[in-house]
Amino acid sequence: MKTLFILPLAVFVGIMTSCKNNTGTSAGNSADSASTNPLLTASTLPFQAPPFDKIKDSDYEPAFEEGMKQQLAEMEKIANNSDAPTFENTFVAMEKSGVLLQRVNNIFNTVTGANTDSVLQKIQEEVAPKLAAHQDAIHLNAKLFKRIEAIYNNRAQLKLDPESARLVEYDYLEFVLAGAKLSDSDKVTLKKFNGQLASLSAKYTNQLLAAAKAGALAISDTTELAGLSQGDKDALAQNAKAKKLDGKYLIALQNTTQQPLLQSLANRTTREKLFNASYTRAEKSDSNDTRNTIINIAKLRAEKAKLLGYPDYASWVLQDQMAKTPQAVDKFFAQLVPAATAKAKSEAADIQKVIDQQKGSFQLQPYDWNFYSEQVRKQKFDLDENEIKPYFEINNVLQNGVFYAANQLYGLTFKERHDIPVYQKDVRVFDVIDKDGSQIGLFYCDYFKRDNKSGGAWMSNMVDQSKLLGTKPVIYNVCNFTKPAPGQPALISFDDVTTMFHEFGHALHGFFGDQQYLTLSGTNVARDFVEFPSQFNEHWALYPQVLQHYATHYKTGKPMPQVLVDKIKKAATFNQGYSLTEILAAASLDMQWHQLPANAPLQDVDKFEAVSLAKTGLNLSQVPPRYRSSYFLHIWTNGYAAGYYAYLWTEMLDDDAFAWFKENGGLTRANGQRFRDMILSRGNTIEYGKMYRDFRGHDPSIKAMEQKRGLIAE
Ligand SMILES: [Zn+2]
Repeated sequence: MKTLFILPLAVFVGIMTSCKNNTGTSAGNSADSASTNPLLTASTLPFQAPPFDKIKDSDYEPAFEEGMKQQLAEMEKIANNSDAPTFENTFVAMEKSGVLLQRVNNIFNTVTGANTDSVLQKIQEEVAPKLAAHQDAIHLNAKLFKRIEAIYNNRAQLKLDPESARLVEYDYLEFVLAGAKLSDSDKVTLKKFNGQLASLSAKYTNQLLAAAKAGALAISDTTELAGLSQGDKDALAQNAKAKKLDGKYLIALQNTTQQPLLQSLANRTTREKLFNASYTRAEKSDSNDTRNTIINIAKLRAEKAKLLGYPDYASWVLQDQMAKTPQAVDKFFAQLVPAATAKAKSEAADIQKVIDQQKGSFQLQPYDWNFYSEQVRKQKFDLDENEIKPYFEINNVLQNGVFYAANQLYGLTFKERHDIPVYQKDVRVFDVIDKDGSQIGLFYCDYFKRDNKSGGAWMSNMVDQSKLLGTKPVIYNVCNFTKPAPGQPALISFDDVTTMFHEFGHALHGFFGDQQYLTLSGTNVARDFVEFPSQFNEHWALYPQVLQHYATHYKTGKPMPQVLVDKIKKAATFNQGYSLTEILAAASLDMQWHQLPANAPLQDVDKFEAVSLAKTGLNLSQVPPRYRSSYFLHIWTNGYAAGYYAYLWTEMLDDDAFAWFKENGGLTRANGQRFRDMILSRGNTIEYGKMYRDFRGHDPSIKAMEQKRGLIAE
């Protein structure tokens, strides 16, 4: 049974494009009352594509209610079955449950993410806690779990096929992790902890929002803003005006420690002020100070893990991940730290040289880093976006780059169609056709920014693949590229190109899903595995044969000159010591907070942070963590607790897997087919470590990642 959830509003920006998860399952639904609400019945469009032309905002809430009601009834029926538990009457029956809920949830997440409005936002707030309670009601159903457990304990005798055996193990573990094995009184305690944790997370979010708002830096004298463009200054004056600070300039804080304007601010005192405003935003000993809240969350999480039988929260979280244990993550960090910090130190030395040349006579501080590294970048790696963009016309990138690579590697072809309803007119729809001419599914893309779209980029399913349910994948990619004026070509940056390849990598993982069970299908995999296919696909953007095929000037049709290609490649290694070290520092803090045992004495947040960074060799005074504990939203409010490492872990996988391609002849159909057969089509049907080793021939190595980031020579 797949865990269902409503996607949160995009409250944070990941270091890479964010991705999302999917939902539950089930068979037919009652046909009555469906005449007016199109969500209540399966779509009759090709591949059950959502009938966006018929769905109204008011259809969602009743469909959610009905979907939850139906699934609860289905689960009750399974739990109360008087027949002895079998794989069919329990696991398969659970897979067939919740079809309506799955459908409405998928479609709802599509529109709330990409094309929301105030009505949908309100439904989102109302439905999210109901859905969480719905999941709990299933996971903590003692009769249901008894059947699951009986089959699990007897699984060796059942002669199940490998995918079915994996489903038994997966469902069993998910129920156990959710507390199914607890006594009744412990279940009460667990619910109490979950409730307290939810309110503490909400409190943290509110405190941090208020703290960040209050931490905005007001400047009265324009000389303090030397280095900023007039446009920047006008925007800051506008910010100030909106806060009734007429005549001043207001610099709002971004989520990360480093602030974008630090790159341009020539006045060192202003830089220091802005940096300190960011660094101490949530540590002012006022009502917005998050430190006590953090301590309470960490303590409660440790107690929850103990209640569930795990030594610490990270151990609980990592059970169903590829890394499996906090020790594996710590070992991974320890391998990366020496090269990352050595590179950061050499970058610091380069910057110090610039400061000295300019007779700065001061020691480099974190608030100087971006200002001077920007000068180093201009000297060593200057890449003018305006020179590059004419080679990246969006349709050309899509058809002759993204689709072309998928054709050369996997034999796919794509055909645009105009008969499928879309939720917004910018959305395009393509048939995805396999090498033998059969149709795999539908691909929607929605690339341009809108006011009612969440930030970032993501992929998800409107319809999930499952042979049991007879469904094929309907998949979409959403991005936030600047929309050109009418009649103008959309020329995008190389970052945007990379994002298109990234999100399409997720799409391929979804399209090649070939599973019996939706729960294990396509991109329904662990968080520290899901970014592997997407980041892997990014590599083809710069692969010579692919790049030559799509990077042609939109006016002249001429290929991109080699000197520009070389500049793009070289720029990719710029400042990598700093950027890897700051991420490692944040990821390491996350792991250390969540390895605290339940009986750990209440910690002083700042002291804990200093000791933790020193212990792991990540206490470089010039390279602070990307997020300090007090403003690390990812880990205190949502699914990234003991999970921030996943970004780096999957980077190791994708670089190492790409190294296999380089060692074996690069872009060929045979290599693509092998990757498709061994990784992209396997969903979560094989233990991740084994799946990877079978493909690569050995455990993942960090060498290719270190080379790509320019930390060690190729
Ligand atoms: Zn992604």
